[in-house]
Amino acid sequence: MSNIILNGKIIKKVKVKDVVFGGEKPVVIAGSCSVESREQIIELAKKLKVIGVDVLRGGAFKPRTSPYSFQGLGEEGLKYLKEASEITGIPVVSELMEASDIELLCKYVDIIQIGSRNMHNYSLLKAVGELNKPVLLKRGMSATIKEWILAAEYIAYYGNKNIILCERGIRTFDNYTRNTLDLAAVPIMKKETGLPVIVDPSHGTGIRELIMPLSLASIAVGADGIMVEVHEDPDNALSDGEQSLNIDQYKDLFNKIIY
Ligand code: PEP
Ligand code: MN
Repeated sequence: MSNIILNGKIIKKVKVKDVVFGGEKPVVIAGSCSVESREQIIELAKKLKVIGVDVLRGGAFKPRTSPYSFQGLGEEGLKYLKEASEITGIPVVSELMEASDIELLCKYVDIIQIGSRNMHNYSLLKAVGELNKPVLLKRGMSATIKEWILAAEYIAYYGNKNIILCERGIRTFDNYTRNTLDLAAVPIMKKETGLPVIVDPSHGTGIRELIMPLSLASIAVGADGIMVEVHEDPDNALSDGEQSLNIDQYKDLFNKIIY
C-alpha cells in the first residue's frame, strides 16, 4: 500500500469532546437522515439522550440522487442541529458537500462528514485536511480499499490526522439491499491505517430490519462504533425513512450494543 502517514502500527484515537473513537467502548452515532425542522431535531435529540447516544447526526446539505427530493435545510438546519447539541450536550456531525461551506460547517458542528459521493473529491479532502476538526470519511460506494485508504491519506497529508473511517456499503451485482455492507473492510482498514473505523448499517443495507443484526456483526468484527438513522415517525421522514429505526427500535439496539 502507498499510505505513508497513516500506518496500522500507530493506533490513533479521535476525541470529540468526551467521546473517544478507538477507545474501550463502541461509539454510537444516531439521528435523522436530514434535519427536518427545529422542533424535529430538538425533540429527537432529547429522546436519544434519555436512551443514550454519543453523537447526534443530522444532514443539512443533502446529496440526493434526485433533484426532486428534499435537499436539506442548509444553514438553517445547521443552526437547529447546534441548538439541539447545546440543549442536550451531545456533540454533532453533519455533511460537507462544498469547500466553500467549510467555515459554516466548522461554526456549527463537532465532526465534519465527507459523504460517499465525495470520497473521491480531492479538493474537498485537501480542504478538510487543513482543519483541526475531526473528519468522518465515508467509503465511496464504488471505492476499493486502496482508494479509500488513499482518500484518508490525503486528509492526513494536508495535516489533519483526526480521521474516523465509516464503512457504508458498496455497489455490487446484488440489489436486494441498497448496498452490500463490506464488514471485512473493518479489520482491514484498522490494520492498514490505525484509524478508528465505524459502520453505517442504515445506508449499508437500506432495510430497517437489517440494522440490528448488522450493527451487532459490526461490533463483533471490531468496529469502533456504529452510525444509525433514527426518526420519531419513519414513515413520514423527509429522507431515508425506510432505513430509519423508530425510538423503541433504537432503544433496543442501544441496549444490545452498550451492555
Ligand atoms: C449520510 O450519512 O447522510 C449519507 C448521505 O450517507 P452516504 O454518503 O454514505 O450515502
Ligand atoms: Mn440517509
